[in-house]
Amino acid sequence: MAEDKTIFAMIIDDELPSEKLYEDDQCIVIKDINPKASTHVLIIPKSTEIPRLADANESHQALLGHLLLVAGEMSRRLGVDDAFRLVINNGADAGQTVFHLHLHILASKAFDEGSLGKEFG
Ligand code: 5GP
Repeated sequence: MAEDKTIFAMIIDDELPSEKLYEDDQCIVIKDINPKASTHVLIIPKSTEIPRLADANESHQALLGHLLLVAGEMSRRLGVDDAFRLVINNGADAGQTVFHLHLHILASKAFDEGSLGKEFG
């Protein structure tokens, strides 16, 4: 139903603007609107079938693998492949605010230099 459409589904459907860095048939990569690190991008599957990682099943295996490969590729393109974190928040109590699966790539200068930095809490 329309009222259930998430912000990310609207971005995928070009109903909301975003800074898109990458797109293929299975996913998009956008800049996070409220970055928690100097590099903070979101890898978002186009499928709306997986609200949380815990909702994924074996039929999503290839897609989940693809998202990890895109994460590695994006880390190289963004020049952070030496030091980055890949985060999936699952559930509101873990900080998930958008219930459409997404992976965060987080990297910062402080992190590159060996200190975790405030933004990693
Ligand atoms: P979560 O907390 O669900 O793991 O992550 C949701 C992320 O989406 C947050 O980091 C938040 O800043 C980001 N976000 C929320 N709304 C928008 C939006 O409209 N555009 C973009 N680019 N990012 C968004």
